[in-house]
Amino acid sequence: MSKTIFEKIIAREIPGDFLYEDDLCACFRDINPGAPVHLLLVPKRLIPRIAEAQDGDQELLGHLLLTARRVALEQGLGETGFRLVINNGSDGGETVPHLHIHILGGRELDWPPG
Ligand code: 5GP
Repeated sequence: MSKTIFEKIIAREIPGDFLYEDDLCACFRDINPGAPVHLLLVPKRLIPRIAEAQDGDQELLGHLLLTARRVALEQGLGETGFRLVINNGSDGGETVPHLHIHILGGRELDWPPG
């Protein structure tokens, strides 16, 4: 199966602007930012989307949320706030079939999203 764009970024086959990485996940800037801070946090093991996560992924999913929190706070978003987003499927706006958490902040964000 061909690699997803995020697997290629994590493998350094194509460039990525990394802010954080550990054994389980990596965080890099979104190429088309929708806010002053727009990061993507991606598990290294491919889960196509949250709908396909399994019970056995509990530890990884918890790690992703706590890492998203940590990166957001490191980016100075703790006071003003931030948003974590997971898009799932076509109606959910998912365009890259590799689970990722958007970390958005640096401006007041609209709600509900379009
Ligand atoms: P989705 O729409 O699947 O929730 O989010 C995919 C995100 O990946 C989009 O915000 C898009 O801008 C970002 N993206 C797509 N291709 C690339 C790329 O090659 N590099 C980076 N850094 N982000 C990408």
